[in-house]
Amino acid sequence: MKPNPSASEAPRVSSGSPLGLHSAPHGLSVADVMASYRTGEQGLSETEVSARVSQFGSNELPPEPPRPAWQRFISQFRNLLIYVLIVSAVISAAMSHYVDAMVIFGVVVINAIVGYIQEGKAEDALRAIMSMSRSRCLVIRGGQKLTLDSRNLVPGDLLVLQPGDRVSADVRLVYSKDCQINESALTGEAIPVTKQTAAIAASSVLAERSNMAFMGTLVTAGSARGVVTQTGVATQIGQISRLVSQVALSQTPLQQQLANFARTLTLIIGAGAMFAVLLALTLHDFSVSDAFQAAVGIAVSSIPEGLPAIVTVALAIGVRVMANKHALVRRLPAVEVLGSVDVICTDKTGTLTANAMTARQLLTTAGAYRVSGEGYGPDGEITEQASGAQASGAQASGVKVQPDVDQALDALCRVALLCNDARAEQSGPDWLVHGDPTEGALLPLAAKLGLTADTLNTNWVRVDELPFDSSTRYMATLNQHGSLERRLSVKGAPERLLGFATSQMDTQGDVIPLNRTFWEAAVEAFAAQGMRVLALAEKTWPSVAEDLTPAAAESDLTLLGMVGISDPPRPEAAESIGVCHQAGIRVKMITGDSPLTACAIGAELGLKADRVLTGQDIDGFSQEALAAAVETTDIFARTSPENKLQLVRALQSNHHSVAMTGDGVNDAPALKQADIGVAMGRKGTDAAKEAADFVLTDDHFATLADAVREGRVVYDNIVKSIVFILPTNLAEALVIFIAVVGGFLLPVTPVQILWVNMVTAVTLALVLVLEGPEPGVMKRPPRRRNQSLISPHLLLRMLIVGVTGAAVVFSLFSLYQRAGIQTEVARTVAVNALVMVEVLYLFSCRFLTGSVFSTRFFHGLAPVMTAVAVVLILQAGFTYLPVGQVWFQTHPLSLLDWAIILLASLPVLLVVELEKGLRYRWFSPHHAPHGNPISTNRTNTTEGTE
Ligand code: ATP
Repeated sequence: MKPNPSASEAPRVSSGSPLGLHSAPHGLSVADVMASYRTGEQGLSETEVSARVSQFGSNELPPEPPRPAWQRFISQFRNLLIYVLIVSAVISAAMSHYVDAMVIFGVVVINAIVGYIQEGKAEDALRAIMSMSRSRCLVIRGGQKLTLDSRNLVPGDLLVLQPGDRVSADVRLVYSKDCQINESALTGEAIPVTKQTAAIAASSVLAERSNMAFMGTLVTAGSARGVVTQTGVATQIGQISRLVSQVALSQTPLQQQLANFARTLTLIIGAGAMFAVLLALTLHDFSVSDAFQAAVGIAVSSIPEGLPAIVTVALAIGVRVMANKHALVRRLPAVEVLGSVDVICTDKTGTLTANAMTARQLLTTAGAYRVSGEGYGPDGEITEQASGAQASGAQASGVKVQPDVDQALDALCRVALLCNDARAEQSGPDWLVHGDPTEGALLPLAAKLGLTADTLNTNWVRVDELPFDSSTRYMATLNQHGSLERRLSVKGAPERLLGFATSQMDTQGDVIPLNRTFWEAAVEAFAAQGMRVLALAEKTWPSVAEDLTPAAAESDLTLLGMVGISDPPRPEAAESIGVCHQAGIRVKMITGDSPLTACAIGAELGLKADRVLTGQDIDGFSQEALAAAVETTDIFARTSPENKLQLVRALQSNHHSVAMTGDGVNDAPALKQADIGVAMGRKGTDAAKEAADFVLTDDHFATLADAVREGRVVYDNIVKSIVFILPTNLAEALVIFIAVVGGFLLPVTPVQILWVNMVTAVTLALVLVLEGPEPGVMKRPPRRRNQSLISPHLLLRMLIVGVTGAAVVFSLFSLYQRAGIQTEVARTVAVNALVMVEVLYLFSCRFLTGSVFSTRFFHGLAPVMTAVAVVLILQAGFTYLPVGQVWFQTHPLSLLDWAIILLASLPVLLVVELEKGLRYRWFSPHHAPHGNPISTNRTNTTEGTE
């Protein structure tokens, strides 16, 4: 690790090879820092990069050391229910029931091991997922802008910083345009700092180094470029070894609910056990030892030992399935919350549309043109449409346009290249675009007229720029031609540029007064076809001395023309929107594009496109008016990131559970405010990703819809496991309680109960978390946010199973006893009956609403049958193996015993299926088979979506 640069140290410039790093680069001028790091405007060459990689290694911070294994193991014991078990073990030992004590203690340890392994797996899964969303950065190497994995940065690299970027290394800035950086990750100061490039005193402290950008800090506004001065552990943040961002393995609301439930249960168990001891001692003169054994029995029978592990496994499976489907979970609670989402607010570009931008139509003062050819390559041509006609509807005359025929067209193509940061690269037969696809679409347009960035750059040099910002909706660059002329090139949303323009260019290149009506009609015609429209304009810059500011750029422009860019909807997006509508989820499109474009695309996608609200409308509404408007509108256009936040709040004030997508740095507040924030993995900024609960690695809307479905499946499966496990505990507790109250012999001993709870119940319940979706999982309304986990009717079902299960066990035991059969045999029959009840009930739990007696029974049967086979083999061992007999005081059974067990257990399955039948088929047929098992009484608050 590199020592902290001493504040008083004088700047040291290295010479010769290998490169020596400067200890106080902020003290150097821009020229000196470039020289010191042996780099230039073109960045490093690839050979230089390889040399530096071997000298400085990879730009990584060592991962945070995981919690020591022993700490993780010990933490498994910190659970109230485990304390109850430990006390039970101690009491058993004190009463000389050593085998019982050892078994109970063994269970506690096994439970800790299972918890330890599961938790480790969940942590590993999250860590692996984090590494999949590694940060990327933009650098200039060999004169080209490249997007790299941040690990590949080396000292001397020229790093480009844009709003929303997490800075990937320590950087001495050589260019800054209104760049502001939030350094709270490093200094704790939340207010962004303005950055500049002039040298400052070498002795200045970290917070004063206004010409440096430090690894882990966040660019909030403006743009900058800088020379990488330190990488990896040598960076400032590396020296204080704090991870830039990490995923918290926080408890989910469900896990918290379960923890609360466990606390209540412990109290009930404690009271019940004490009551039982009192009864046993006073009413039935049990010996003290037997009375305590009964108390221990009640304690161990009532505790659902396996439940926490099951929930963790279900969540972990959900996280893995979602990751395989391109949805990375950043916060575990989000997996559960997904099931309650009833409004999805989504971006348009790239999420609902393919983000494959192609310029299709052109309009200048002189004429309308069609552009042929697909993708970002130069193949295709620009052909004339009927002269002077508007772009739509006119018959193409099909004549290929040559340069110099229409001066306005030539100027438009020049501006398209000068005001452009994208780069096209041929990869096999395809052309890939690096940078913004909207800008990428302009490259082939210019190429079809014979213009390329390379030829232009020999004459024109960019001296300043105003980068594109979705709140200003335009981009401007100031370019110098030779030593005299400076020209401003501007492109952006038409209504913005029409506001700044006073003139337009004609075919001969003359400047004539602006014909606003002509252009407005053209924009409407383009947008009505669902095209994104860009206006292009320019002006001669008044003087070399004048700086490029928004105020100076936003006046006296000469409009050159309009470009209509098509970006077709993704085919699968329309289908996913349909699925969401069926699932009671309203989809709202929030876009920066124009209302007409948004409506045309929205209608194609199946959204309600008869009403659209713009950002301006939203700003003008009162809170109440907006809350009312969001219920009836599905398309929002020309919105700002602030509008997104307003919309989320308005929807939440109407009690909706909202998922919101976003990509820009300014989207972060809306993503945080939403119940589920979703960031785009490809085009999203680091700031958006860090604020989000989910990252979609493919940016597709369909992925989000899939994740919602998976969230519902996970939740259902957790409910199924709980509905499965708890009645077993209830049956066991009832059996022991009745025995104590009635003064009978215990039909099952505490250790036998532990066996059932730990081994068979968990093995069987695990199968339920693997279950596929309930039929109609996306055809029922979402569950309410604050809805209790178990609905009243599921509670009733659990009571029925618990009571009938207890009745079966009790009656079999009594029957055997009355027949004068050995207690060990009677108990072995009782335990096996309990397990058989579980096995049969498992089949029923697979379908919370549907009947077992249907063809669905055979779907996904293999894991269930495997688990059942495992449990039956374990039961055989428990019953017939000498170890089982010693530890659990069992006795071998005959075939007749097994037949009796099976027959006696069957009624439980029949009773539950009868209950389902009565509830779903006869009493409320509209619920069958698609009713929401979790909330059957919910009214769907969404409208017009089915
Ligand atoms: P969303 O992704 O939320 O659907 P969007 O990304 O399409 O919205 P913006 O990128 O904010 O919306 O674009 C808004 C408008 O700004 C576009 O309709 C277009 O006219 C203009 N525009 C888009 N990209 C650029 C750019 N790179 N340079 C200049 N103008 C642009």
